[in-house]
Amino acid sequence: MKVLKFGGTSVGSVENMGNVKHIINDGHKKVVVLSAMSGTTNQLVSIAQDIDAGKLNDAIDKLNKLHETYFNTIDTLLSDALLNNDVKNYISSIFELLVECTYKDFSETIENQILAQGELLSTYMFNSYLKQEGIRASILPALNFMRIDAFKEPDIEYIKEHFENVLDNAEDSEIYITQGFICLDDEGHISNLQRGGSDYTATIIGAAIKAEEVQIWTDIDGMHNNDPRYVENTSAISNLSFEEAAELAYFGAKILHPQTVTPVRKDSIPVRLKNTMKPDAHGTLISKSTSGNGIKAIAAKDNITAIKIKSARMLQAHGFLKKVFEIFETYQTSIDMITTSEVAVSLTIDDDKNLDIILAELEKIASIEVDKNQSIVCLVGHSVVNHQDTYKLFQILQDVKIRMISYGGSKNNISLLIDSKDKINTLQKLNDYLFELVTL
Ligand code: ASP
Repeated sequence: MKVLKFGGTSVGSVENMGNVKHIINDGHKKVVVLSAMSGTTNQLVSIAQDIDAGKLNDAIDKLNKLHETYFNTIDTLLSDALLNNDVKNYISSIFELLVECTYKDFSETIENQILAQGELLSTYMFNSYLKQEGIRASILPALNFMRIDAFKEPDIEYIKEHFENVLDNAEDSEIYITQGFICLDDEGHISNLQRGGSDYTATIIGAAIKAEEVQIWTDIDGMHNNDPRYVENTSAISNLSFEEAAELAYFGAKILHPQTVTPVRKDSIPVRLKNTMKPDAHGTLISKSTSGNGIKAIAAKDNITAIKIKSARMLQAHGFLKKVFEIFETYQTSIDMITTSEVAVSLTIDDDKNLDIILAELEKIASIEVDKNQSIVCLVGHSVVNHQDTYKLFQILQDVKIRMISYGGSKNNISLLIDSKDKINTLQKLNDYLFELVTL
């Protein structure tokens, strides 16, 4: 069985839901994972923030507007009076629950409950739409099988077992619809897989049922070789290995949740990235094989903090790095890039929640310099470290101030740390010269 995930834009309008219906209605049984309609989760986040800040009238206003938007969508989507009425009742029950949340003491569980409603709404609506169109569909409630453990990792054994149960008890259908993003935590409270987590839901299910393929349908033709939001003339990459895709997703390619390929990599289950608006475009196939050498893609990750840790005692001293790493470990902060010299080590983090306490601890053993607003530019491809293009990098970037370089950590990745204000210029230059739009 295949698992197909459709993102917020794909279910964000009646027209796009029609496209999704055509894509999935091919006579093969499949699991369909849906995001919330585009914009809904952002709205729910803002409503939760209002409740937390005690701005209850603002929260209620936003809820009323959103409720109305859903009713309008239903009037265009469902001409069948019975289904129309049933879905409106469901929508109203969800909005009643959301209004009740405004009276309760705000907590993480309340917040997670609010955020979960977008996917519950989209799946209920889409299931009814398929029924109206004569397609045999049913819902597999994600909260009955999707669970994370105490380390916030998917509990694959639990998911596998419970997914099978849920599937066995579902009405026999062509299309099994489930909610992306939402799950239970290890204590049974409602939780989620972080923003953009529906991709992750799809590959977790894919791994649990050993799917033939996982497809991620969005509004772009696959993974691009550079960030199309900042750079002109980017193009879709047709093939990537799991390693290449994982590096790109982690280092900023926004099309995929950073953990997407992790669950399917072990069993080499292919992941295909496709465009709902252009279903015939090839998209990107992520699989165990790779093609071509040299730099295939560039991505950038922002909001990086660089920390330089300098100590005279580092000279020929063993155990210094261990002490440094222990501090980051104690405050559960992971390190992305690292470079060392005889007297100093520079490293980067993207989660600066515990930065002050980490710096206070580091200052006990070394002198520290901190640079905020940095970006990691990551160049990915098969064996990039051995490719001749790589040697052009310094020439291409001669007028960009590079703060750190990571080369040889893996043969598929080279990372550069630069000031975020130089990011767009750097991405465009790399695009122009490396992808041979301009010669040096
Ligand atoms: N609806 C959630 C979000 O907007 C999850 C997802 O779309 O993947 O982050």
